[in-house]
Amino acid sequence: MFALGPARGTVVGFRFPPSCRGLNVPGYHLHFLSEDRTSGGHILDMTTATGLRIEAQEAGRYEVVLPRGEGGFSRASLGRDRSGELQKVER
Ligand SMILES: [Zn+2]
Repeated sequence: MFALGPARGTVVGFRFPPSCRGLNVPGYHLHFLSEDRTSGGHILDMTTATGLRIEAQEAGRYEVVLPRGEGGFSRASLGRDRSGELQKVER
């Protein structure tokens, strides 16, 4: 985890309602990419300056593409409850 100082760039993300738990984390999930594309990442907290432009789109479709092949997603162990780890990462 790191703090990024003042930077210009783009924030992109999703807001999933609680009914989508299991598909993604309910609430806002935002990522930042700096204008010069040298820094960014998952956003835990941010402040914004004036002149902010916000665009939003309501989507009724969510597509997940899983990697195929030997040693890929098909062998992943997904049975373990990782909610504790998720809470730690998202806070
Ligand atoms: Zn993220």
